[in-house]
Amino acid sequence: MAKIQTPNPVRGTQDIYGEAEERFAHIIAVFEKIRALYGFKGLQLPVIEPTGVYSRSLGDATDIVSKEMYTFDDRGGDSVTMRPEFTAGICRAYLTNGWQQHAPMKLSVHGPLFRYERPQKGRYRQFHQIDAEILGAAEPMADVELLVMADHLLRELGISDGVTLNLNTLGDGDSRDAWRSALVEYFNAHKDVLSEDSLRRLESNPLRILDSKDPDDRGVCHAAPVIDDYLTSEASDFFAAVTSGLDAAGVAWKRNKQLVRGMDYYRHSAFEFITDRLGAQGTVLGGGRYDGLIEDLGGPHTPAVGWAAGVERLAMLIDMPKQAVFDAALIPMGESAQMAAMKIIADLRRNGLRCEMAYKGNMKKRMVKANAIGAKYAIILGDDELAAQSATVKNLSDGSQITVPFDKLAEKLAQNLAS
Ligand code: ATP
Ligand code: MG
Repeated sequence: MAKIQTPNPVRGTQDIYGEAEERFAHIIAVFEKIRALYGFKGLQLPVIEPTGVYSRSLGDATDIVSKEMYTFDDRGGDSVTMRPEFTAGICRAYLTNGWQQHAPMKLSVHGPLFRYERPQKGRYRQFHQIDAEILGAAEPMADVELLVMADHLLRELGISDGVTLNLNTLGDGDSRDAWRSALVEYFNAHKDVLSEDSLRRLESNPLRILDSKDPDDRGVCHAAPVIDDYLTSEASDFFAAVTSGLDAAGVAWKRNKQLVRGMDYYRHSAFEFITDRLGAQGTVLGGGRYDGLIEDLGGPHTPAVGWAAGVERLAMLIDMPKQAVFDAALIPMGESAQMAAMKIIADLRRNGLRCEMAYKGNMKKRMVKANAIGAKYAIILGDDELAAQSATVKNLSDGSQITVPFDKLAEKLAQNLAS
């Protein structure tokens, strides 16, 4: 009979387990702690949205909409898309649920996202983000709060040292339009060196040429017009308020006049926290202000600002805190001892003690397992112990042994662990 081929995972997806999963969980736990500290409410959102949620808000010419989305018609013939980013879905939810009445609203979300990209280190087709947004806030202090929070998160994860906040302003609508025209003129004069992608961008959104990673494009971008020469006084006041706020809060930042963001919807602040420790995939956290997005979705004018960070990229940067160990390993010898151990381990766990059972192999093998999982105590149960209704408790760091009645185990262990 022909051998049945085992299934492969979808390219660019990962099974995350063991040490990698612990890193992942640690990042989510720290994010949950920080977002609560800053008063951001949690949010759970659908993984699929009507395709229009993304095509209308991100813009057809963006990399995401033009070539990265997982889009398909469902069985009813409706075009749906697996979310490639959070912001547009959050804005859709804001409108669906009439959250205008709660503005300004501070929201946070995390979970998987999907983009059809070329998989490589730090770049996957299913990846994960943590995300924070403030909707219905026009004030520069909202931008500052989000950036202070992002900086705090990176500090808490122990990675702020190698990561730099790059900050730019894209100005308001008028500034952006004037800058855009200047860029079109400039890039038209350098058409011969631009990459094919950038030639296309020149038609659709010239700002995005500045975002290009192509080395030839980078050369041309170097001398391109900068936004500063086109900022309206309102836009430059806004930017000054953001930078003063960051200085007041003690958050270091670097002006990066070349920084634009991939999506059409950004206005005013655009920022990225960048590291040189991850090669080409150096942006760990990015975001900005998107005052026009909710209008693009048919809602009322709603200024908003937010950021998202890639969990996989953060996970590559952190040093994991020392792993928590087991309080005790139960070592029952014989069938009746195993039943007694079942009751004891249930009891100990209900009392909040981290326990594991070692029930395979001879005594020596079981002790090896107890040591291997980092248990502080081994609780040994044999015939003698059963007869006396008392367990032998061995301290695995100094080898000392005591005898403890079954019904006193939880109490005694907790005492010893605390001392
Ligand atoms: P890049 O320039 O690296 O493609 P991006 O501008 O597309 O990033 P955003 O859409 O701003 O990224 O997403 C925010 C963060 O999500 C990124 O800074 C990165 O950490 C992470 N990220 C984006 N795409 C991927 C991916 N395909 N795999 C893993 N992480 C990703
Ligand atoms: Mg991208």
